[in-house]
Amino acid sequence: MAQQQRLPFARLQALAATSSYRDSSSTNSEISTTPSEESAGTEGEPSTCRPNELRRKRTNKSNQQKPRTSWVFNHIRDEDREKRYLSDNSTLEWRCKYCTQTYELSRGTYIITKHLTIGTKTRDGHGLTAESPRLERAKNQQAAIDLALLQAEENPKKRRRIGNANGDSLNPGIMEILWVNVLAACSLAFRLSDNKQFRTFLEYLNPDIEVWFPPSHSVIQGWVMRQFADQKLKMKEVLLAARSRIHISCDLWTSPNSLAILGIIAHFVDKDGTLQAMVLALKSIVGDHTGESLVMPIL
Ligand SMILES: [Zn+2]
Repeated sequence: MAQQQRLPFARLQALAATSSYRDSSSTNSEISTTPSEESAGTEGEPSTCRPNELRRKRTNKSNQQKPRTSWVFNHIRDEDREKRYLSDNSTLEWRCKYCTQTYELSRGTYIITKHLTIGTKTRDGHGLTAESPRLERAKNQQAAIDLALLQAEENPKKRRRIGNANGDSLNPGIMEILWVNVLAACSLAFRLSDNKQFRTFLEYLNPDIEVWFPPSHSVIQGWVMRQFADQKLKMKEVLLAARSRIHISCDLWTSPNSLAILGIIAHFVDKDGTLQAMVLALKSIVGDHTGESLVMPIL
């Protein structure tokens, strides 16, 4: 749990924001686009549901939970790529952002890709370039590296070269931020940096690693703590610039290592007018879960 406390707050906040948004919007779209005959049948008398009707609902539900992977969903009318559209006969369909064309999703995304790129036999395409999952992954990775570069430039740190090589092929600031992200996201031990086999693996990828990657877990701990301090400062700035009042919500649960943890989340409208949810703290609670013992960590 101690590791989780050090998750970058910006990411937690993004996660919290997207998941809550998705939950509410996707359920609404499902209900609002369901033709009236089907909703009328289930609302009043659930016992008369036929088995195949039930099966269809269950399939719809499982579709709803699985995140979409294809790039064609970046080009639907809604900004949320998980938005589900239902056709007149209650099948899931894809609706083009650029024209009135729709396609049934049960037929796969091949025809949609054609529609967005070169076109089909009957119609011209939109001339877009198809993005492979690999390209999309590469784009996300590059975005994470760019963000780390920005953060590293905002908060430059003093560091010492180890050995005589110049280590120019690596930016130590970016490396520190990315490594702290890995530790937090995967709950890894700081001592991994002391591990001989792991260092050999890194050395093989880039010999300059020996110049910048400290062979001591105490230095890594220092990295984590200073990244935590940087992120905390940034969060304070965001909170101070909030346009709305800051509302607090709490959630108490038990961690995998059996600690009672109280999550404290701030909800507010930021300076750009976007609704934000930000994790302020994860506090370990000792004793009864009464109002009295919960109020102190919050204050
Ligand atoms: Zn179109």
